Amino acid sequence: WSKTLARTGCRNVCSSPSRLQSMSAWVIDQYGSSGVLRHTEEIPIPTVNFAHDVMINVSAASLNPLDLNMRGGYGATLLNLRRDPLSVVNGFSEFPLILGRDLSGVVVDCGSGVTHFAPGDEVWAAIPPWKQGSLAEYVTLTEYEVSCKPKSLSHIEAASIPYVANTAFSALVYAGGLCRESSLNKRVLITGASGGVGTFSIQLLKAWGAHVTVTCSQNAEGLVRGLGADEAVDYTAGDVAEQLEMMERFDVILDNVGGDTEEWATRLLKPWSGAKYVTLVSPLLLNTDSMGLLDGSLHAGLTLHNKAFQNIASSGVFYRWAFYAPDGPTLDEVSRLVDAGKILPVVEAQFPFSQVPQAFQKLEQGHARGKTVVEVA
Ligand code: NDP
Repeated sequence: WSKTLARTGCRNVCSSPSRLQSMSAWVIDQYGSSGVLRHTEEIPIPTVNFAHDVMINVSAASLNPLDLNMRGGYGATLLNLRRDPLSVVNGFSEFPLILGRDLSGVVVDCGSGVTHFAPGDEVWAAIPPWKQGSLAEYVTLTEYEVSCKPKSLSHIEAASIPYVANTAFSALVYAGGLCRESSLNKRVLITGASGGVGTFSIQLLKAWGAHVTVTCSQNAEGLVRGLGADEAVDYTAGDVAEQLEMMERFDVILDNVGGDTEEWATRLLKPWSGAKYVTLVSPLLLNTDSMGLLDGSLHAGLTLHNKAFQNIASSGVFYRWAFYAPDGPTLDEVSRLVDAGKILPVVEAQFPFSQVPQAFQKLEQGHARGKTVVEVA
C-alpha cells in the first residue's frame, strides 16, 4: 500500500477535538421514514481508542440508496451482529445511529500504530455500514479504510466517490475478474448506469480500455455518453432485452437494477468463455432481516448456489453477487485515476448540513444522476 502522496499544506486547519466532549450529528433513534432523522449537538466524539485508529473531521459526506434502506431498518440483523457479536444476548442497541457512508475530511488524531497518516492530512473514505456514519462532525476509522483524498478535488467532489468506487471495484474486479491489464476491448454491459455506481463504473472501465454498453433512461444518455459509454440503450423505449440481443455478446455484466433483469441478462453473455454476470442487488440482508440470521443466510446461500449452478451448467457463464467492501488501498488507486483526469466526480445535488432531511428527500425521489452530497463543515 504505497502512500506517496505529499501530506503538507493542511496542518493549520486542524481543530482540537480532545478538548471537546460532544459533536454535531444527524441521528436516528428508531427505524422509519423521513421523520426519524434528528439533529443533535450531543453525540460523544468518537475518539481514538486503538493503535490503528484515524480520527477525521468530516468536511463533506454523500448519500447512497443504502442510507435510505438503513433508515428503514434494512440489514439491521446482520449489521448488529457485526457491531456487537453478542448483541442477541446482551441487549445491545445501535441507536442513536448515524447514517452516511462517504466522507472527505481532515485527519485530526491518530493511534500510535498509524503509519500512513498524520494530523492535517486530507483524506477520503467509505465507512462500513456497521460503523457510525459521516453525517457528523467526526468519524473514527481504521487506517486501512482511509486513503489520501485526490488533490484535484474539493471535499464536496471527493465525498461523492468512495462508497461507489469501493462497490464498483468489488463488483467489477473481485467478482467480475476485470482489472487494468485485462479489460482492454472487453465488452461490458452496465444496467442502471446513470446512478452513483454506474457513473463511476463507466469511467473506470473506459480508463482501463473496455468497451462499455449501458442501459439508462433516455434523458440520461447525454450524461453517460459524456462519461465515455460507447453504447446507451434506453430502457424506457420498448423491450430493453430485445434491443440488447441485437448486439454482440458481453464478457461481463454489472447489474445495478436487479429484479427480473437477471432472467434476460445472463442470456446476453458469451457462452462457455468465462463470462460473468455480477449483481449488486441480492436478497442476503432482506433474508436475514425477515428470517433471522441462520435461516436467512442459509436461504440466501441456497439461492446463490442454485442460480450459479444453473448458469454454469446451461451456458458456462458465472453468476455472482457483489457487495461493497471497505478498502483504503483501492481508494489510493482511484485517487491516482482522479488526479490523472480519468475519473470525474458526478455531483448531482449538494445540501448544507442543516438540510440533511431535504437531501434524503432528494434521494427518495429516485432517478439519480450521479450523487447527492452534504457539506458538513
Ligand atoms: P442510484 O440510485 O444512484 O442509481 C440507480 C440508477 O438506475 C438511477 O440513475 C435510475 O435512474 C436508474 N434506473 C432505475 N431503473 C432502471 C432500469 N430498469 N434500467 C436502467 N436504469 C434504471 O443507485 P446506485 O448506483 O448507488 O446503486 C445501484 C444499485 O446497487 C442499488 O440498488 C443499490 O442499492 C445497489 N448497491 C448495492 C451494494 C452492495 O453492497 N450490494 C452497494 C452499492 C449499491 P432512472 O430511474 O431515472 O432511470
